Amino acid sequence: MRRSKDNIYAMCNLDDEERRMKRKKQTIGMALLVLITLLVITIVCIIQNIQDMQRAKEFSGQLVQYQEQKKQELEAQQREEEKRVAEEKARQEKIAEVSEEAKHNIETIYRSETKRAFLTFDDGPSIVTPTILQVLKEKNVKATFFMLGSNVQKLPETVKQVYAEGHYIANHGYSHVYSAIYASPQSVLDEYNQTNQAIQTAIGEPEFNSHLFRFPGGYAGGKYAAIKQQAKDVLQQNAIYHVDWNCLTGDAETSTPTPEYTMNRLQATSAGKNSLVILMHDAQAKKVTADMLPQIIDYLAGQGYEFKTFYDIF
Ligand SMILES: [Zn+2]
Repeated sequence: MRRSKDNIYAMCNLDDEERRMKRKKQTIGMALLVLITLLVITIVCIIQNIQDMQRAKEFSGQLVQYQEQKKQELEAQQREEEKRVAEEKARQEKIAEVSEEAKHNIETIYRSETKRAFLTFDDGPSIVTPTILQVLKEKNVKATFFMLGSNVQKLPETVKQVYAEGHYIANHGYSHVYSAIYASPQSVLDEYNQTNQAIQTAIGEPEFNSHLFRFPGGYAGGKYAAIKQQAKDVLQQNAIYHVDWNCLTGDAETSTPTPEYTMNRLQATSAGKNSLVILMHDAQAKKVTADMLPQIIDYLAGQGYEFKTFYDIF
């Protein structure tokens, strides 16, 4: 009996032991589960942190790049502004070179108290120019030559001679091709500058600027009237003034003008005028002008005209 009682105790103890063991296992299992969960969470957090850091690094890299780009843009803008200011200053200085008196003189070119005549030759220089220079020298008269840049480059020695002998060199553009020079107001200025540079090179004076332009075909009217009008403003903004003519010998009106024709045109277009700006040409085909020049000068002198150049204006 006692034995069986002991057995029951033993059995109970065993159950207790098993339960304890089971609880222990459960506890350990739970603890492990919690531990693993914590571990997983920690690892996920670490990965997320690393990713966040990488993103932050990338972002700060991009930010630095953006800031650098902005800085460069700003510097470029600043340089552009400085360049513009310098150009504007140079332009203003150039404008200041032409005095108010000179501007007034050019505006009133066709008016004068006394009789005066400006002999002007367009489209040269050419092989005819030295003959004209010879006549001018013999007659002791100074004239004004509206040169084409394209011809200046062909005959730089003649340009040099014109300048050295005291004549005024003015500007007639580069190409004399209407569709080119009148493509836009800016192309008129471009041709002026191109020609001015060619003259500078020919005469060896890097500062040379005639400030005087004659529109090929004349300023007024024609197919390109609107462009010319706008070009006039563009030129004036660059201290360049234009002059046409109010008298001519008709050397461009017919291919072979006779001496009579020349003198008739001169008389007709000069009649009743005190201030003459006389259009002639020293292009290659205008030999008649060179031949007629002594007579032209004598006629004008006989009428009481005093010869002037644009040196007297500027
Ligand atoms: Zn011309």
